[in-house]
Amino acid sequence: MSGPLAAGLDMSLLAGLFGLLIGSFLNVCISRLPYDESVVAPRSHCPRCGAWIAWFDNIPLLSYALLQGRCRACGAVISWRYPVVEALTGGLFWLAVTLHGPTLAGLKWSVFAAILVALIFTDLETRILPDEFTKAGMVAGFLLAPVAPLPPGLLSIFWPGASPALISLLDALAAAGLLAGGLWLMALVYERLRGREGLGFGDVKMLGLLGAFLGLESALLVMVLASLFGSVLGLVWVKVRGEDMGSYELPFGSFLGVAGLVVAFAGVGLFRELGG
Ligand SMILES: [Zn+2]
Repeated sequence: MSGPLAAGLDMSLLAGLFGLLIGSFLNVCISRLPYDESVVAPRSHCPRCGAWIAWFDNIPLLSYALLQGRCRACGAVISWRYPVVEALTGGLFWLAVTLHGPTLAGLKWSVFAAILVALIFTDLETRILPDEFTKAGMVAGFLLAPVAPLPPGLLSIFWPGASPALISLLDALAAAGLLAGGLWLMALVYERLRGREGLGFGDVKMLGLLGAFLGLESALLVMVLASLFGSVLGLVWVKVRGEDMGSYELPFGSFLGVAGLVVAFAGVGLFRELGG
């Protein structure tokens, strides 16, 4: 291998290693942001014995393997979520740069992956979708829309002469507005009819984030996929665990996150193949 291909592969590997570090930071965010705790201080410590975690016990994936998933001081089991989030983030950063190269598009889909991985796990563990990811992520999506434009969607039919950057930005704004606004209305109606909250406002903001990154058509596809996965898996889970159907709260944000990653990475790869 030589020339641009070898350089491209090296960049993917670097992105993957960087993703492992970001994944390690996301783990801190997932543990603390739902409780409004600082992600900077105090340093990481064992939740059971309180022992500080030294840098050499905090190396992504490696430390978990060497410590066999236990705290060095007290032997408490470390959640499987730590290595999974690190591996997932590293793998998705690698994939983003493999698909798009070391470009602004590679950056955009890495940022998107990191945000969704964090939201998938905060929702799964606490049913909370922190604003630090949903709101700030939506803003990041708007900023990245014109510099790493989406493939032209429906909007370009209505305005054929506009530049891809402008169309992409308008698509992001329209998708975020329509999807978040639509879900917000549905949530209001549901609350009126059932007298309780069916969908949290976090889900509304997360749909805005998905729209900002994916544009209208892909974000709609994510919503449909997440609803399908969610209802099927939710029903199975409630049956298996014997939970009460009426009160079990489905982690809809986690399903939106998984569907978002599938559409972004499988879909974008497809666009790339089609575009040559
Ligand atoms: Zn400990």
